Amino acid sequence: MLTGKTALVTGSTSGIGLGMAKALAAQGANIMLNGFGEFEPAKAEIAALGVRVAYHGADMSKPAEIEAMMQACEAELGPVDILVNNAGIQFVSPVEDFPVERWDAIIAINLTSAFHTTRLAVPGMRARNWGRILNIASVHGLVASAQKSAYVAAKHGIIGLTKTVALETATTGITVNAICPGWVLTPLVQKQVDARAAAEGVSEEEAKRRLLAEKQPSLQFTTPEELAALAVFLCSPAANNLRGTAINMDGGWVAQ
Ligand code: NAD
Repeated sequence: MLTGKTALVTGSTSGIGLGMAKALAAQGANIMLNGFGEFEPAKAEIAALGVRVAYHGADMSKPAEIEAMMQACEAELGPVDILVNNAGIQFVSPVEDFPVERWDAIIAINLTSAFHTTRLAVPGMRARNWGRILNIASVHGLVASAQKSAYVAAKHGIIGLTKTVALETATTGITVNAICPGWVLTPLVQKQVDARAAAEGVSEEEAKRRLLAEKQPSLQFTTPEELAALAVFLCSPAANNLRGTAINMDGGWVAQ
């Protein structure tokens, strides 16, 4: 379905981004990977699906590196047709103790990076009259939790960006939507599980149960594969007129 398209997935060395990259590759898209840490295994897995794959290590908090990544993508694979703004970090603290540099980093990586990739990708998408921009927001783009001021502000912000760019491109073949996962058991959440187990003196399994019980009525983690299937749908012709939405896949979290 996506043969010949180029997909750039930020933060795709791990977790949700890696799941998205694999699912888009399975549909035939060539993939530009990005993110920190080991990338060779992801690259090999995607190449095995018979598509072209490249990697760029841009730090998404640095606009010049983001520009370099967009240029490298065009040179190596072609211009970006599918942009998945996924890279993100978390930090948990009451607002009065929130380290200023953590606030700045979260806003830069979870929000501002999507502005840069979007502004750089849209002109080419307009020229080809086709594009898909998928912003990986969060239920925290729709509702808040205590201790997560920067993350909640950034995720509410990226839903605002999603709506605005969706309006600006509404008469074109470019669609812009946000995906809002609830708890997904990735390294980002594992840290919160570990912190909870330590703070409450319980096992890892019990910490997971408590984490889910607090917010996610299904008591099950959403998986990267489920989110990736939604991303594939958003790239399909059936989603041609799905614009400016924020779709929560959250086990009932925001229904409460
Ligand atoms: P993860 O920690 O498994 O993956 C994050 C990815 O982002 C990694 O590839 C990491 O290398 C990359 N990254 C981090 N900082 C970066 C930087 N400065 N430059 C480039 N890459 C960087 O996390 P995840 O859970 O897969 O999260 C992916 C996205 O999904 C994030 O935006 C997160 O906020 C969102 N999300 C996650 C959950 C969840 O429960 N896990 C829920 C809702 C939303």
